[in-house]
Amino acid sequence: MSESPHAVETHRFEAEVSQVLRLVINSLYSNAEIFLRELVSNASDALDKLRFRALTEPALVGSEPLEIRIRTNPELGTLTIEDFGVGMTHDELKQNLGTVAHSGSRAFLQALEESKKGDVKLIGQFGVGFYSAYLVADRVEVVSRAAGSQEAWRWVSTGEDAYTLEPAERPVHGTEITLHLREGQKEFASEWRVRELVTRYSDYLSHPIKLLSERWEKASEEGQTPERTFEFQQVNRGTALWQRSAADVKPEEYEDFYRHLTHDFEAPLAHAHFKVEGTQLFTGVLFLPRRAPYDLYALELRKGIRLHVKRVFILDDVRELIPGFLRFVRGLVDSDDLPLNVSREILQDSAAVRFIQKSVGKKALDMLDKLAADKPEDFLLAWKAYGPVLKEGFHTAPEHKDRLAKLARWKSTKTGDGEWVTLADYKARMPEGQKAIYYIIAETERAARTSPHLEALLAKGYEVLLLTDPIDEWAVQGLGTFEDVALQSAMKADLELEPVKAEGEDKLDGDEKAVAKAVLLRFREVLGDRVSEVRESSRLTTSAVCLVVPEGGVHSHMEKLLKASQPTWQGTKKILEVNTAHPIIQAIAKIAEKAPSHAELQGWIEVLYTQALLTEGSHVDDPTRFVAQISHLLEGATARIATTLS
Ligand code: ADP
Repeated sequence: MSESPHAVETHRFEAEVSQVLRLVINSLYSNAEIFLRELVSNASDALDKLRFRALTEPALVGSEPLEIRIRTNPELGTLTIEDFGVGMTHDELKQNLGTVAHSGSRAFLQALEESKKGDVKLIGQFGVGFYSAYLVADRVEVVSRAAGSQEAWRWVSTGEDAYTLEPAERPVHGTEITLHLREGQKEFASEWRVRELVTRYSDYLSHPIKLLSERWEKASEEGQTPERTFEFQQVNRGTALWQRSAADVKPEEYEDFYRHLTHDFEAPLAHAHFKVEGTQLFTGVLFLPRRAPYDLYALELRKGIRLHVKRVFILDDVRELIPGFLRFVRGLVDSDDLPLNVSREILQDSAAVRFIQKSVGKKALDMLDKLAADKPEDFLLAWKAYGPVLKEGFHTAPEHKDRLAKLARWKSTKTGDGEWVTLADYKARMPEGQKAIYYIIAETERAARTSPHLEALLAKGYEVLLLTDPIDEWAVQGLGTFEDVALQSAMKADLELEPVKAEGEDKLDGDEKAVAKAVLLRFREVLGDRVSEVRESSRLTTSAVCLVVPEGGVHSHMEKLLKASQPTWQGTKKILEVNTAHPIIQAIAKIAEKAPSHAELQGWIEVLYTQALLTEGSHVDDPTRFVAQISHLLEGATARIATTLS
């Protein structure tokens, strides 16, 4: 123990730390062995950080090699992991190991609370790495000395609710973590067990990992017992995974590397490993996570790609390295051409980085193409998780639009449960004479499927895409056409369909048709400026009315989003389309002709208009009035039937 005048300080963990600790232990106890890769991964990061800082401050690095050393002691039941990396100061020990503000755990706790089910898979998305030591240890001791500092500190905790900090001795910078193993976990104090785990989980790391290994020296003389000695032996191959040829890397090694990069516990859905030669020379590895991160839509939290330059780790989460619509892709780029002293500011404004971003975008799309071809079910998982983000690319990345259009999957009037259609499939099965790819926008698939706007299209045997993502309206506008066929909304005014016959239309004579047309004026009068126009419909066969969106207007779905973000936004006035062959319209027309001042006319027309609002997914302005009108109609209908029975 040091003879420093400093007393031992005792600090309580933040409440959240204790919570995270408990959670880690409760949810991961059956995976206890992961603690080793977490600690080795932290040690490797610490070496990376030191190597990076040494680019500008070479004096920081002492005489020790940049490596990780592991020692086991079966007698004491301990396991020690030592690195010669950046180390931590007194305050950093407090901050990094005593609070959760640092490692994203606060966000983790919140996400966990929101997910209610306490989804343990979430744990992987956050930095709870260090705390996994308590899966196997009942006491953890950390001695650390920050590079550039003369002081070392010892942090000790049993993982309950407090830890101590006191001055310690350490001749060089770096961190030494000693685990006092719990009963039942002593196997991790055995050399062979640790060797097995390191080879299995940490072989992808570029820093040497050395394990103190027992060796028996042959006895020099006959009859003498062999002598036991110890030496550090390197147990990993020590070449960065991305520098190896893809043919030499096993799938499990990619998975381990992915875990190291992302902390995700689940294996990725796909990976891509490539070398780009040309204007810019760089190597890269990309991964497609199985599950969308909790912050997929929080742009300010968006992650990126790790950047190395000439093998040296430079920065994490570099957004500039990947197009925004692929922001869920994780991975690493190692450039041979960027300067080692590259900063975030330089990255934001560099033609070289823009070139890399474009190539990385292509490689990520290659990865998705390959997944779609080889493992369609996994691709669908990815599409469900990331489709809304990928679709942003129709607007934000015109250079990738055609490839994205081929990847996109949609629900349609012809897809069954769990089925999706591509635009290429859609186009291939378009009947003769169909001029556009039709879509409808609604809040739910059910509302889309049953919308009156589809009636004429379905009658013609046309397929209609059912768009229910909030981003869809904007996305299809960006897409515009697919292989020269325009995408067209079934809800827009300019549908330009050859008219179809409405049900019962054949039975109407010329007079009846003329009377029905005349009633449109009455609708116009009653509805006033609630609509921009009332006109005869060519898209309805069984419904009486529907609302359509005029040129330049937005659909009700987008309208709601716009209203939510801009309360003063007035909205688009729709066109009311009326099916003049419909029996209700026929009857109203007749009454309006014969008894133009009939008291009920206005109410009926308003009810029809409200029905059109409801089927297009809009809110009803005056629900009380609507309910009163419906009650009035019910009263009449029920009273009539009741009288016939009495
Ligand atoms: P994460 O690594 O995801 O941030 P951890 O709980 O594993 O979460 O670690 C918290 C922080 O503690 C790390 O971000 C790092 O700053 C610091 N740390 C952990 N281990 C070491 C180490 N061996 N050397 C230096 N710093 C470390």
